[in-house]
Amino acid sequence: MNKADNKRQGMWRARQSMVREQLIARDIIDERVLQVMNRIPREIFVGEGLRNRAYEDTPLPIGEEQTISQPFMVALMTELLRLNGDEKVLEIGTGSGYQTAILAELAAKVFTIERSHNLSRRARQILENEGFDNVLTRVGDGTIGWAEFAPYDRIIVTAGAPSVPETLVNQLAEGGIMVIPAGERFQQELMVITKTASGVETRNGGGCVFVPLIGREGWQNG
Ligand code: SAM
Repeated sequence: MNKADNKRQGMWRARQSMVREQLIARDIIDERVLQVMNRIPREIFVGEGLRNRAYEDTPLPIGEEQTISQPFMVALMTELLRLNGDEKVLEIGTGSGYQTAILAELAAKVFTIERSHNLSRRARQILENEGFDNVLTRVGDGTIGWAEFAPYDRIIVTAGAPSVPETLVNQLAEGGIMVIPAGERFQQELMVITKTASGVETRNGGGCVFVPLIGREGWQNG
């Protein structure tokens, strides 16, 4: 086996361990989520110098003072979305594009917004290289959603909001689910919002820590 094969096999083993020890051990049970996280190489979404840490149980820096989320948080938020493959999904906070790739494997179409030009460009490049043709990227303020393609069956926000942006609730389809961390600037609760014919139901999916969601219906500065 040559050096490159060795490296690939090492990453594959680290990925299987991550799924077993960080996801299954913490009660992630959605088989489709587990399978896709077993398959998608997280290392390609982080910089060269961090590839050997790609399967650690932690967020990692991706530049622009932002992070790729912890694998468990990606799995949990994805599981909470209850995707079956037909959905149109809006993602706010493209970041590295890793969560985007997971969503693109599990849903029909993903619309993803990132406020940083650099991060958006980098993520789009990786997603294109990997052959994802069901993802549309955009640079802008995700707190006001993407009206052109609304309503969305699912909305996922991967940065912490002071409160749930009204505009995003309005862009959620009836029967749709939104997952969003909301609360204090450095500590939030994962809110799971379901839109029904009679209104909106909200439940708390547990504590979490995200970088701030900055924009018109988010925090006012970085
Ligand atoms: N899901 C990403 C991943 O797996 O790499 C992690 C995203 S990171 C924790 C949060 C991202 O949200 C950052 O890239 C940040 O620039 C972005 N962000 C913050 N406020 C935003 C806004 N109003 N609209 C779009 N993106 C925003």
